[in-house]
Amino acid sequence: MISKAKIDKLICCLCGNPIEPVGTWTQGCNAQPLADGRCCQTCDNTRVIPERIRRYYEEARAAKPKVFDDGMGGTYRPGAVIEVPKWKK
Ligand SMILES: [Zn+2]
Repeated sequence: MISKAKIDKLICCLCGNPIEPVGTWTQGCNAQPLADGRCCQTCDNTRVIPERIRRYYEEARAAKPKVFDDGMGGTYRPGAVIEVPKWKK
């Protein structure tokens, strides 16, 4: 049986508001990479997730494109448009 004892709510490390339980989960969300700690659902949705997405695209843009050997003397890059040589008639 779930105890109805008062649960001390965690405090969001980003906005300072109490973290509301979701079902029986009382530990909020991971605030990384903005902070080492737990945050509320609102901060997760409006600050943490957008920052993770922004960093993902920042890293993806900075990464050098990988070039693969096609095993037939050529190379290709993922996402590159491949031009197929036309057969001579
Ligand atoms: Zn918050």
